[in-house]
Amino acid sequence: MKKLIAGNWKMNGSLVANELLVSELLAGIKLAGGAPACDVAVCVPTPYLAQLTGLINRPFLSQKDDIAGKNTARSAIELGAQDISAQASGAYTGEVSGGMLKDFGVRYAIVGHSERRAYHGESSQTVALKTKAALAAGITPIVCVGETLAEREAGQTEAVVKRQLAAVIHDNGHCISEIVVAYEPVWAIGTGKTATPEQAQQVHAVLRAQLNAASSAAKQRVRILYGGSMNAQNAKELLAQPDIDGGLIGGASLKAADFLKIIAAAGE
Ligand code: PEP
Repeated sequence: MKKLIAGNWKMNGSLVANELLVSELLAGIKLAGGAPACDVAVCVPTPYLAQLTGLINRPFLSQKDDIAGKNTARSAIELGAQDISAQASGAYTGEVSGGMLKDFGVRYAIVGHSERRAYHGESSQTVALKTKAALAAGITPIVCVGETLAEREAGQTEAVVKRQLAAVIHDNGHCISEIVVAYEPVWAIGTGKTATPEQAQQVHAVLRAQLNAASSAAKQRVRILYGGSMNAQNAKELLAQPDIDGGLIGGASLKAADFLKIIAAAGE
């Protein structure tokens, strides 16, 4: 299975900073041969989607295509959003629909990140509906699950992640093979505390079994990413685990050199 390395920029960036970061990433990818062995995506704040579509595709277009306005060449970096509305359109102030994201070339949308569950009260039911909306729009949802420190210490890790994933499977059973899952222990996000490769692998194996039981099509197809303080130093060991199919990377995705090292580690 081809690994996926996705950066989650969270609420960071500016027009100037984005241009520099993306040009460094594209230059680094080009230097390494131009075609990473893994899929690469950046999930950026909504106002920058239009800028990013231009930045990631421009260097790969021929001048002729550029003049004709054709956007057929595929960049080595794909575009992701950090959230998506469960609704298709209408009176939902502040929401952004899958169709709108699609207009800007969005390929992935993070759904149910723990920061949205914690600060915006998103329930697993909401996450399931957002997953459905993404799939309906032709966007691959990156569905985040993960336990808090208290839940881990109470021995509830497996039960929590299974419950979170079960809600998504329940509402999306027929096309569950089209999702990406990200296991992100809440205690490891932005804290510098990473799950050990063994801890991560153990949970990934549980999620894999749950997906396989839900759908024969999900077998060998659904990528399960690890997220939580993955960085240039620990990526290789985490990505070497049999059920870790990539990474969702926050802090380290904002530094081109670090993100490029993680991309390289995914290809080893
Ligand atoms: C995340 O926000 O998805 C994440 C994994 O963040 P960090 O890598 O900074 O822990």
